[in-house]
Amino acid sequence: MAIVSLEKMKKFIDIPEAAEILLTRSEKEIAFNVNLKTGRDEIIFCDAFVVYHNVALGPAKGGIRISPDVSLDETRTLAQIMTYKNALAGIPFGGGKSGIKINGGNIDEFKRVAIIKEFVHMIKEELIFGYYVPAPDLGSGPEDMAVIYGETHIPESVTGKPVRIGGLPGRNEATGRSVAMSTYLVSEKILKEKISNCSVAIQGFGNVGRNTAIFLSEMGAKIVAISDIFGGTYNGEGINIKELLSYAPTKDKSVLDFPEGENIKNEELLNLNVDFLIPAAAGEVINETNAEDIKAKVIIEGANDPVNEKADEILEKKGVIILPDILCNSGGVIASYIEWRNAKSGNQTNKKEVYQIIDRKISDSFEKILNIKNNLRSSYRIAATYISLNELIEAMRERRWL
Ligand code: NAD
Repeated sequence: MAIVSLEKMKKFIDIPEAAEILLTRSEKEIAFNVNLKTGRDEIIFCDAFVVYHNVALGPAKGGIRISPDVSLDETRTLAQIMTYKNALAGIPFGGGKSGIKINGGNIDEFKRVAIIKEFVHMIKEELIFGYYVPAPDLGSGPEDMAVIYGETHIPESVTGKPVRIGGLPGRNEATGRSVAMSTYLVSEKILKEKISNCSVAIQGFGNVGRNTAIFLSEMGAKIVAISDIFGGTYNGEGINIKELLSYAPTKDKSVLDFPEGENIKNEELLNLNVDFLIPAAAGEVINETNAEDIKAKVIIEGANDPVNEKADEILEKKGVIILPDILCNSGGVIASYIEWRNAKSGNQTNKKEVYQIIDRKISDSFEKILNIKNNLRSSYRIAATYISLNELIEAMRERRWL
């Protein structure tokens, strides 16, 4: 439940009927098949989707998810999250998302490149005209974006490219940066506790999880547990992140059996008694089956949509603070915006400046959320949704859509 329903939001904000219609339905949904003959007796075929949720603020922006669990429904939800995330960050992008329903990990590099090229071929017009600007998401990475650029030859048609070919220094680390910054702000401004006195458990050791771990360990936080899809590692004294990174240098290598930790199950990680729990892997991992058992004081949503609606209600009653994904993981799209802008203008931005921009945008949005939360006497999620919704309604008014 990354986004609070419009029905619930009506208690806090006046939503014109036309706005409700435009925000309830996707603006555009494309469903197609990626079919490839890859050998005499071999054909690869998979479903693929592109969704534009709302483009009042600008072109549809959102990552490409490559996973066997991809569905049109999931892509739709993720595109909607992007609409609100971009509006909250104040960047001129609409909400988009795409997905290729295949287990990318099982495919060799040459077939993977062919699949990406075919995906581009099927939606070439959307990409060439800049209606949809993809980026990495779960299961995709900079090299896939390089293949897309190789097909369109338009630098701003895709972000999250490798740095050598027009990518942004710091884009790879950007989402982890905003997740770590969000954690820091909650510790200092809400818990009134130094981050170095806080314990953290992180689910996921891919792009978001490992970069979050790196930044938080640099800030001095005690990261006691980290997991991936195979399981987790626990060390009550704090995990040495540098050691873990050399033990599991890529996300293909599990953190299991890390010599300086004890193995734990993913469910156990979610139930640890820590200050911060950071789900940074899959969606809806915290749901009605496990919400009662959560002992963390704060949940920082690193992944998209990691807490479902029922769990959100249970956790709110328990007094658990939840900082929503549309704030916490917005570093990726903030960096994507800088990359897109540079691709158009020829400007370059260094890593330090990228981190400064992310930190500033997250701090500004955090302050706004705190103020609105206090005024509305609401959750952080409602406050964040309120800010985005207000921006979207105003933008749709200015475009004469309402
Ligand atoms: P990734 O593919 O790089 O890594 C995913 C990690 O999660 C891997 O370590 C994997 O083993 C682990 N994992 C997967 N399913 C799991 C499960 N059920 N339990 C425990 N671990 C599991 O993906 P990523 O780019 O780090 O994205 C993670 C989440 O963050 C997704 O929800 C994605 O939509 C969101 N997100 C990513 C970005 C980005 O810039 N990469 C930006 C915003 C949001």
